[in-house]
Parts: sequence; C-alpha cells; structure tokens
Amino acid sequence: MVSRVIPAPDFDLVLFGATGDLAQRKILPGLFHRFAVGQMPPAARIIGVARSKMDATGFRAQLEKSLAAFAPQIAEDRALLERFLASVDYLRVDVMGEDGWKDLARNLRPNVVRAFYLSVSPSLFGVIASKLSSFEASTAESRIVVEKPFGHDLQSARALNADLRQGFKERQIYRIDHYLGKETVQNLMALRFANALWEPLWNATHIDHVQITVAESLGVEGRGEYYDKSGAMRDMVQNHLMQLLCLTAMEPPSKFDPNAVRDEKVKVIEALEPVGPGDIVRGQYRGQNRQGGYHEQAGDPNSRTESFVAMKVGIGNWRWAGTPFYLRTGKKLRGRASEIAVVFRDPPHMIFPKMEHRRGNAMIIRLQPDEGITLRNTIKEPGPGGFRLAEVNLDMTFADALKEKADPQDAYERLIMDVIRGDQTLFMRGDEVEAAWAWADPIIEAWEASNQMPEPYDAGSSGPEDALMLLHKEGRRWREIA
Ligand code: NAD
Repeated sequence: MVSRVIPAPDFDLVLFGATGDLAQRKILPGLFHRFAVGQMPPAARIIGVARSKMDATGFRAQLEKSLAAFAPQIAEDRALLERFLASVDYLRVDVMGEDGWKDLARNLRPNVVRAFYLSVSPSLFGVIASKLSSFEASTAESRIVVEKPFGHDLQSARALNADLRQGFKERQIYRIDHYLGKETVQNLMALRFANALWEPLWNATHIDHVQITVAESLGVEGRGEYYDKSGAMRDMVQNHLMQLLCLTAMEPPSKFDPNAVRDEKVKVIEALEPVGPGDIVRGQYRGQNRQGGYHEQAGDPNSRTESFVAMKVGIGNWRWAGTPFYLRTGKKLRGRASEIAVVFRDPPHMIFPKMEHRRGNAMIIRLQPDEGITLRNTIKEPGPGGFRLAEVNLDMTFADALKEKADPQDAYERLIMDVIRGDQTLFMRGDEVEAAWAWADPIIEAWEASNQMPEPYDAGSSGPEDALMLLHKEGRRWREIA
C-alpha cells in the first residue's frame, strides 16, 4: 500500500491562543507535520493571535523552540522549517478589546478557506465569535474550531452553544474530541460498516457485554486545581468514553455523511438508561505514606472529586437490551491503556471438555498503546495427547499491518485537516454534547448532594475494590490493565 497524501484546499487559519500550551505543543507541531508531508498547500497561512506583546519575528522564534521540542525529527530539516515558519504570521489582539480586529479582517484573503481555531478559555468563545462576525472577519463559509470542555453541565453547555452561534451556524462549528481523530476509532466504523462479517453478530443476541476502559498511569500532577473542579465524570466520561460508546453501539447510518453519523450517535445517548447508585463506583487515588495522593496533588485535603469512575450502563433499544456496557476510567492506575472490548457470548452448546479459565471470544479495539484490533479465538491446543482447547489472538496491530502506509498522523493533525476540508463527521454536534450532559447531570448532582467520599484506591492499582465487584457480582471480570 502506498501512502497517498491529498493536499487540502488553500486556507488561512487564525489560531487564537497561539502562544498557549495547546497551540505550541499540539496544534502548531501538527500543522508542521502536515506541511512536511505536502498536505498543507504552499500558499496556506497560519495567523497566530494572542495577547502577548510581540511581532511575527518574536512569535516565529518562540514557535521554532516548540517545534524543536514537539516535532524534533522534521524540525532538523532547516530548509523545511524555514519554509513553514515563513507561512506563519502573528497579530496581537486582546479579544476583550476593540483593537486589532480590523487588521485581522483586512489580513485575510478572499476565496480561500477561513478557519478560526479558538485555543483559549471557553469564557472567550462568545466574545470571539461575535467579534469575528461584527468585524466581518468571518464569512458564511468560515469555520470555527473549539476544544473541550464544552461546558460543565447541561446549562453551561447550552450557553456555550449559544455563544458560538453568535455569528456561526452549526454547520460551521467544529468541536474537537481528539479521541475521534484516532485511527482505531475510525476503524471501528470501517470494521462495522464495511464488512458483512460483524454486523449480524453486533447485538445483544451475540454480545455478552462491552467494556470501555481509558486508564491513565499519571495523576493530576500540575493540573490539580483545574481537575478538582471537574473530576473523571466531566473530564472523561461525558465526552471521550461517551463517544466511544456511541460509535460501538450506534445503528449503521444510511450514508457516511456527518449528519447521518451524528444523528445515529445522538439516538444512542438518548437511549441510555439512568444509572442507579448500585451500578456506579467513584474512586480517588491515595499515595503511600501520605505522599503523592490525590488530596495532596489537588491541593485540597477535603476534596470529594473523583479521579476514577466505573459504571454499568444499559442501552434501552432493540439492539442492546440485556447487554451491559461497562465504562471505566481513572488516573494513577496500573498502566496506560485505552480500549474497547466487545465480549461475545459462549456457544449455545459446548461439545469439548470444559476449558479452565476460558474467557471466550472477544474483539479488542486498542486506542493506545499500539493502536490495533485483536480477535480472541478458541482453537485446539496443538500437539497430541487429547483434545484440549486454547485461546489465541488474531492480532492486527496497525503499525505492522499497514507498515508501508504508515503516516503516523496525530489525531489533532487529522482533525485540523478535516476542518479545512469541511468534513464534520468526526466532530461533535451541539445537540450531541447537550444530550451527553443531560445524561451525566443527574449522576453528578446525586454525588454532589451526598456527603459520601469517593472510595480510596492505591496509586498504581486497578482502581477501587467495588469497581471489580461491579462485574464480579454478575459473573464477569474486567480485562487486566497492563
Ligand atoms: P494557555 O493558558 O496555555 O493559553 C491561553 C492562550 O490564550 C494564550 O495564548 C493567551 O495569550 C491567550 N489569551 C488569553 N486571554 C486572551 C485575550 N483576552 N485575548 C487574546 N488572547 C488571549 O491555555 P491552553 O492550555 O493552551 O488551553 C487553551 C484551551 O484549550 C483551553 O480552553 C483548554 O481548556 C483547552 N484544552 C487544553 C489542553 C491542553 O493540553 N493544554 C487540552 C484540551 C483542551
């Protein structure tokens, strides 16, 4: 397979918050990668906007350092680096004021794609969206890109959506969830809807349960204050895990079109059953000898914020009634792993001797590390001496399977190029975000109304004991976090 790079249309990308962490660490290095492979057209421009007093030369010097740190292989190519830096400009604008907006509007070219990437606090979205419109920097075809958090409950999400719609229509708004930019996540759609093999099995008749795990080995180091206001439910479950659940559970859309795909995802969220108190476990990690625990890192000895959530979720529709989805995410766990495990039911009648420790057929879709898909099958254990069964994995690690094609596109890069191409399939629609909050809010409100502390778990473990019991009591078990 030979890699095909399809150049994006010509564009002017205005990056608000260009001096910030996300822009310097992810967005600009990502654009540099796309430039290096020839996907960013030579005439395309990136206009950094921030409050810092500096000119384009100063901004390019800062960017050069970031590229050396976050895109080191290609930054070594001096000629390439200089060509990329030449496409980058800088404009100082305090978005709360009136200065600079006219310059920005004048600076943009007609007849090329205009994208406004808001890598700034969500509290600035409204003011930026309305000023882009009132200063006529945006057109009816311009795009606006925003990062999570998309609110912290349904009410604030609605307000944020209303802010963005001051000057932009839904078809112009791109809400980034970088999980959706991952190759494996998109492959889940290809696997389900481009093969006749799986879809007949993809339902409660054949699937016993689904486990979705996003485990992190790091704690909240350095982000404690921010995280403490959020917690695992808001930071991970309402968005990333919910997206993975939707893609696993949704009905086949009638076509591969942004609204057809997103309509199906919304239907899944709307079919989620309320989660009862016995079906959810919150945890908080503790350190050893009072060192490195959540309380210490969050800076609040009384914090009741959860750094771990595990839950059983039912989907009330014909496809999934009776097949639970178990979600689990947490910090300071034994390892770093993100995966979806689809566990199939046993054959209705077993003709072979009982196999010890049989786990059964499963499809494991790994997002990290080593993106890939594994199919667990039962076979005859090779060799003479009776007929014994064994389990083996059919492994499709993408780095191996698609070696020649390997273009290790970071999720961000892919999503930014989708913005330029005008493809919203992998971005969350406003109603999707609101539906996810409408489901998450009652759970969070119940926690906030109770005085209960989250269950402590040891840093470096698999999470609280009760989370293991969530499956054990139903004769199931979590996959090991490696
Ligand atoms: P940051 O604080 O490092 O950078 C903020 C940027 O906004 C700076 O460039 C600053 O100059 C600019 N800015 C602030 N006020 C301004 C004003 N009045 N006018 C013009 N520019 C102004 O923040 P960050 O970590 O880069 O995060 C940016 C956004 O992305 C936040 O909403 C954050 O929640 C979100 N996000 C960040 C990460 C991450 O890894 N950093 C991950 C996911 C989402």
